[in-house]
Amino acid sequence: MNFKDRFTMFFQRYKRSIIATGLCFLAIIFVGVVAAKSAENNLLNDDNVQTSTPTAITFIMPVENGTIIKDYSNTTLKYNSTLKQWESHKAVDIKGADDANVLAVYDGEVISVETTYLMGTVVKIKHNSSLVTVYGSLDEIVLLNVGDTVTKGQVIGKVSTSAKNESNDGAHLHFEVLLDNVKVDPNLYLETSNK
Ligand SMILES: [Zn+2]
Repeated sequence: MNFKDRFTMFFQRYKRSIIATGLCFLAIIFVGVVAAKSAENNLLNDDNVQTSTPTAITFIMPVENGTIIKDYSNTTLKYNSTLKQWESHKAVDIKGADDANVLAVYDGEVISVETTYLMGTVVKIKHNSSLVTVYGSLDEIVLLNVGDTVTKGQVIGKVSTSAKNESNDGAHLHFEVLLDNVKVDPNLYLETSNK
C-alpha cells in the first residue's frame, strides 16, 4: 500500500473527527480574534477619555499683558542668568508690567500658599483630579488662603522677584502646569491668542 492509499484510508476512517477538529480550531481562532479586537477598542476608548479631558481646558494668560520671557524646555537646556548655569525649565516665565496682576488661569481651589527660598511665594491651584497650576515668584502679599475657590481670571497676587533662583530676570511669574504630578508644557493649555 503506497502512501496515498494509506492517507485516503486514514482520511475515510477518521473523516468526521478530522472535520470536527478543524471546525473547532476555526471557532477558537474566530473567538480569539473577536476578543482581541474588543480589547483593543476598549484600550482606544480609555485613551480617548484620558487625552481629550485635559486638552478641553483652556487657560487664560496668567499675567495681564504678559509675554513669555523664558519658555518651557524639557530636554533642551535654557540658560539661567541668576544661577549662571544651563538647565531644563519645566515652566514658562511670564513678564508684564513690574506690578502686573497674576490671574488664576482657570476655575479651581487653592491647595497651597507657601514661600520657599528658590521659588519665592508660590500658590498652587487644583482644577480637577489631575490638573494643578503653580504660580511662583509671586509678591509676598497673596490675596488667597488654602481652601479658597477661585474663578478663571481672578487676581491672586502680583509678579515679583521673590524666586531667588530667577531674580536676575526681573519681576515675573514662574508658571508650571502639573498633570498627574508631572510638569507638562503650559503652552498646551494657554490660549494661543494671548501668546
Ligand atoms: Zn522660571
